[in-house]
Amino acid sequence: EVDSGVCFLLAGKGVDNVVIIGSGPAGYTAAIYATRANLKPVVFEGYQAGGVPGGQLMTTTEVENFPGFPEGITGPDLMDRMRRQAERWGAELYQEDVEAIDLKSSPFTIQSSERKVKCHTVIIATGATAKRLRLPREDEFWSRGISACAICDGASPLFKGQVDYHECFRVFDNPNVTVHFNTEAADLVSNTKGQMFGILIKKVDTGEESVLEAKGLFYGIGHSPNTQLLKGQVELDYSGYVQVEEGTAKTSVEGVFVAGDVQDHEWKQAITAAGSGCVAALSVERYLVSKD
Ligand code: FAD
Repeated sequence: EVDSGVCFLLAGKGVDNVVIIGSGPAGYTAAIYATRANLKPVVFEGYQAGGVPGGQLMTTTEVENFPGFPEGITGPDLMDRMRRQAERWGAELYQEDVEAIDLKSSPFTIQSSERKVKCHTVIIATGATAKRLRLPREDEFWSRGISACAICDGASPLFKGQVDYHECFRVFDNPNVTVHFNTEAADLVSNTKGQMFGILIKKVDTGEESVLEAKGLFYGIGHSPNTQLLKGQVELDYSGYVQVEEGTAKTSVEGVFVAGDVQDHEWKQAITAAGSGCVAALSVERYLVSKD
């Protein structure tokens, strides 16, 4: 049960209870839970992903695996619904990137180009960015043939009847899979309808080029966590993800919590991001109550 009296006691004197940084499934879910707990969160939504809030799902079409949408839902529609749900309960949303952050002393300071906010707790939900090959025609076919998420798109109708992605895990034993050694993707090739038709591949030793017919290209070259802002403020791990105390949403700084892809090496799904956003918001509530 929420003890809103406790929360109001802590907030005040120009210091907010909680600032949430990020507007993907993690950030908005944290905002929904924090508003429901009467914490009156301030959310910096950011606009890094294509100039709009909503995070990575703003760059995709159909999302078929988020529970509650048996017919599927587009990424932007799903994120719009999450945003409206946070807004409905009173989250204060700012479409601004956080430009500087000071977590060295409490209350913490969060600064965007428009405002400076002091707060007792922070939820970092800045997500991750799929690495790209930067092929010449990559933007043209992004989400229209190229995907950075085989779990999300491997079963899409676009790829039906193509290589079974489950089987790919046993690559060398699988007659459906041909491994091209010493080969790099050089560009993409379209058919007369402008649809992706193949990949121009190039042998790195001889330079010989050929076209590999394919309707889809899955990138499995990793992600970069969006932690530039956090360097020197919270502990990051060997590959730049926020270090999290196992089984919790706690970072190395007391009062600073983390959710979503920015701390997730492994799963990187909308539902896991949303789940961890919930955990972070409930952890904030528990922390504030313990400090009262
Ligand atoms: P993100 O969605 O990455 O959001 C991070 C947010 O933080 C962004 O709004 C960004 O602007 C903001 N931010 C960053 N820096 C700052 C800053 N300094 N100040 C303020 N804000 C900042 N998952 C599925 O479950 N199903 C799918 O079908 C699916 N399809 C996908 C398709 C594509 C093309 C991609 C790229 C991913 C897909 N995913 C899918 C994965 C899913 O999108 C991510 O796991 C999920 O969005 C992660 O949520 P998040 O909240 O952690 O971060």
